[in-house]
Amino acid sequence: MSRSRLHRAGGVRNNNAPAPVVKRLSLYLRGLEKLADQKIEEVSSQQFARSLRLTGAQVRKDLAYFGQFGRRGVGYRVGPLIETLRHILGTDKTWNVVVVGAGNLGRALLRYKGFAKKGFRLVAAFDIAEAKVSVRVGRIRVYRLKDLDRIVRKYAVKLAIVTVPAEAGQSVTDILCAAGVMGILNFAPTMLDIPDGVAVAPVDLAAQLEQLSFQVAGAKVKG
Ligand code: NAD
Repeated sequence: MSRSRLHRAGGVRNNNAPAPVVKRLSLYLRGLEKLADQKIEEVSSQQFARSLRLTGAQVRKDLAYFGQFGRRGVGYRVGPLIETLRHILGTDKTWNVVVVGAGNLGRALLRYKGFAKKGFRLVAAFDIAEAKVSVRVGRIRVYRLKDLDRIVRKYAVKLAIVTVPAEAGQSVTDILCAAGVMGILNFAPTMLDIPDGVAVAPVDLAAQLEQLSFQVAGAKVKG
């Protein structure tokens, strides 16, 4: 969406919005996409919030970081709000993405078809193991690490998924950043040093399981 259309839709990007708010934008977008699938064109803020197990006040406060949405007595217009949230999240265009580390996890992600629907196009994978190089995983080719710079520039790749062992995390990150990658989804269990302007989203499923175990253990004690 062009900047002027975004303004007409009542939304602006706000890089100062707190991370939990931005995280909830993805939740709002999923909720709205579901409504659009059901051909629902308008939804009240209360109804929308309830469907996400949130309060209307929370949803309104979050969206207020980005503009004025919703009309009194009517609520949110589903289609335009989807467009605006996609623009704010940057998913109104297709991002080319590479995967570094074509092991068990990397291969599973390379076969996942859901990324494309959300605007993320996997274009290549990289590995240091000769046995894995030149092979295709699904339709994605695995390249040698030495080809990374060329491929990243060729496809103007800005996002990467890192699925290498912990000890290789930093070195592949350095290579990715030098090639111009600006955002890294990091599965390797290691903290990454990154240059200014590069964003890292760490994924730690064990930590999330710990959070669940804490909640379930707490519920058991209470019960
Ligand atoms: P794996 O051993 O099957 O795959 C790792 C791949 O990385 C291998 O193909 C290996 O050849 C490749 N590799 C190693 N060094 C490399 C380098 N310098 N450059 C390019 N490729 C390199 O391991 P896996 O089970 O797929 O797990 C991958 C990573 O993800 C591990 O670090 C693991 O701990 C992590 N992991 C994280 C989560 C999470 O929740 N964050 C969950 C599962 C696995």
